[in-house]
Amino acid sequence: MEFDTIAAISTPMGEGAIAIVRLSGDEAFKIADRVYRSGGKQLQSVPSHTIHYGHIVDPKTDETIEEVMVSVMKGPKTFTREDVVEINCHGGVVSVNRVLQLLLREGARLAEPGEFTKRAFLNGRIDLSQAEAVMDLIRAKTDRAMNVAMNQMQGRLSRLVQSLRQEILEILAQVEVNIDYPEYDDVEEMTLNMMMEKSQYVRDEVEKLLRTSEQGKILREGLSTVIIGRPNVGKSSLLNSLVQENKAIVTDIPGTTRDVIEEYVNVRGVPLKLVDTAGIRETEDIVERIGVERSRQVLKEADLILLVLNHGEELSDEDRRLFEAVTGMDVIVIVNKTDLDQAIDLDEVKQLSGDHKLVTTSLLKEQGVDELEEAIASLFFDGAVDLGDGTYVSNSRHIALLHQALQAIEEAIQGAEMGTPVDMVQIDLRRTWEILGEMIGDTVQESLIDQLFSQFCLGK
Ligand code: GDP
Ligand code: ZN
Repeated sequence: MEFDTIAAISTPMGEGAIAIVRLSGDEAFKIADRVYRSGGKQLQSVPSHTIHYGHIVDPKTDETIEEVMVSVMKGPKTFTREDVVEINCHGGVVSVNRVLQLLLREGARLAEPGEFTKRAFLNGRIDLSQAEAVMDLIRAKTDRAMNVAMNQMQGRLSRLVQSLRQEILEILAQVEVNIDYPEYDDVEEMTLNMMMEKSQYVRDEVEKLLRTSEQGKILREGLSTVIIGRPNVGKSSLLNSLVQENKAIVTDIPGTTRDVIEEYVNVRGVPLKLVDTAGIRETEDIVERIGVERSRQVLKEADLILLVLNHGEELSDEDRRLFEAVTGMDVIVIVNKTDLDQAIDLDEVKQLSGDHKLVTTSLLKEQGVDELEEAIASLFFDGAVDLGDGTYVSNSRHIALLHQALQAIEEAIQGAEMGTPVDMVQIDLRRTWEILGEMIGDTVQESLIDQLFSQFCLGK
């Protein structure tokens, strides 16, 4: 395939003052050489996969724009499989931009969002689910979310889906045998048995993958967390301390409008989405303000409840009602204001808390917050929300396709059970195979590809 040479600013993950201008395409070396100065060195003639020190100079004015390190990578052993030049700048946004502008003037075209990844896909470097993982990686909010994205990018999910498709192909092949030799009865029976066995295996695996999607979603979107408690117990103080101690997660992705009533924080690798915090902040009492029914709804949708009590006051009926409202949920009970004389009945608190974790804090004196964070992390990692290092499905398109695949394979199994002619069952199997193929981009239409890649941010 032939493409023109594209360029964009591609800032690496994480912090740091370094920014990268990336060039990809047939003319990448030639265009870079027009602006790169380092003695008489020509990037076109250096060995592939080497890094070079030098300056970016405007050839028209001889003005030096940036001091740089330039990586030279010859295709096809590159991300896009094309010739790639990466110019590492350290002078901040302004000079990086000037380097980019210079390259555009000297013959490169500004890359569209996701165009580098799109090329990697179109040049056969990665499959679609890997490409989508790149997108997730760009959006990954915490280290753990990044691991999921990394795994997926390395093709674990793709390999799994491929192997399931292989199973289905084997069944289909067997069906062909059956159709070719209809006179042998035992072939028919063997085919049905084998069809059943393998189909059930595929179904189980698809179900397993779907079960991981809930965790994948939590990793991507954050553990939806609601802080509840009577007025004045310290809810706002708790929120502030969580936000201050754990740098709020900021996204640098253009086009993602951040909802003002949600705050994202990263507590020891656990992404928390503190829900409706603006509301809680202003109204002091979520239950009173929005009514019992509505607040039940908010609570029901939460993954984690932080229930705050006041050490310096007796338990009230309202406190007891809050315990009732959150039965069966993941709750951490926080007895705050331990700096005040004890008025609360801790035995009753323990009894009401049951299996929930109990933490004492004095937010005023900044005590107990570490223990609270510990409790959140352990609840998340070895509690109800179990996260190994396995393969997670966290992409909503994948989840939708898996649901479709599950339905198709179940229809195949039912058909086989009811003695439907084998070649009818074959249709459902073929459909399952196609749906799974769509996950990894084998049978995907052009428009879908464009739509997917336009979601990427610039420079990837
Ligand atoms: P909210 O109404 O539940 O949101 O409670 P706030 O966070 O607004 O706190 C109510 C009051 O209690 C404020 O004056 C806080 O400074 C104070 N406060 C919060 N935590 C503590 C604590 O641990 N000890 C004491 N003595 N006061 C606290
Ligand atoms: Zn408050």
